[in-house]
Amino acid sequence: MGWTRRNLVLGATWTLAAATATHSLARSSNVPAWSLPIRHPGAIAGDGMVIRHGFACENTWFSPGNWHTAEDWYRADDTETAGAEVLAVLAGDVTWIGSDYPGRVVIVEHDLGLFSMYGHLDYEVEVTEGQRVEAGDTLGRVLAWPDGRAPSHLHFELRDFFLNPIVNGDTPRNGFSCGYRCPPGPGYWPINDSLHPAQVGWRNPQHVLHGDLAGAALPPWVVVASTADGLRGPLRSAPEHDAAEMGNLRLRSGDRFDVLGRDVGDPSSTGTGADAYRVWYRVGLPSGATGWLPAFVPDDRDTGSDGRPSGLHPVLLPAPD
Ligand SMILES: [Zn+2]
Repeated sequence: MGWTRRNLVLGATWTLAAATATHSLARSSNVPAWSLPIRHPGAIAGDGMVIRHGFACENTWFSPGNWHTAEDWYRADDTETAGAEVLAVLAGDVTWIGSDYPGRVVIVEHDLGLFSMYGHLDYEVEVTEGQRVEAGDTLGRVLAWPDGRAPSHLHFELRDFFLNPIVNGDTPRNGFSCGYRCPPGPGYWPINDSLHPAQVGWRNPQHVLHGDLAGAALPPWVVVASTADGLRGPLRSAPEHDAAEMGNLRLRSGDRFDVLGRDVGDPSSTGTGADAYRVWYRVGLPSGATGWLPAFVPDDRDTGSDGRPSGLHPVLLPAPD
């Protein structure tokens, strides 16, 4: 089920071409004004990638006892993630580049008072401080992780602060290694802290991006990710994993579905674990049937100490231009 170039080029079963052609006129003005944060060169952003450690999930082999304040993106097929392109998720201004995380950290300030932070980039970043970037612009590439403590990956977070007094400002209440007033911050937040990361200022990244926070129009369609190729029976009567199954749909990498609606969780929701992600699209099939598909499904390759899944596999990707 891993990514291959063949999946991307040939995997699209263009049996749905008739259904999608009717939208060609509306497409160019309705492309989502956001991007997933990582891409294989030449691929759709997010395709062939997996979030091994999601937002407000515990990473028991790297930082047990803490909620992750970000999403760690890896190649889904376990091959080297270094070199993957790191993309700005929304338009904004590059406000900070620095650190040794290891690797560079880039912080972009967006409208709406949000900051996106991208960690573990190769030292040859492709932007400069003060530069304006658009959604999907390349910021740099994932660093080849130097010390073997973790496989190479992107650490990506969204939050409402550059410096927050209790996180990385004057009065940090939990220790972290990068020093006084260090913009990247700790990347983790203690599970036993009285505040959930969302109450401190971090956001569930996918709830921000797929949601309507930025007034983004509903995308006209979504594309099935290669990590969902062959998935059977995911179409549901309601946006819940345990809702009634609608027919015997089998997903094929590259299939496109008309989008009729979405149900996306609160960016500030205080849920924990991969199950707290809530990103669903109501789609129309060529047969005329409609139903709900998840944009992600929980992945239990890595779990928290309570046994709940910490990872997520993409099922649906924002449609490319
Ligand atoms: Zn991380």
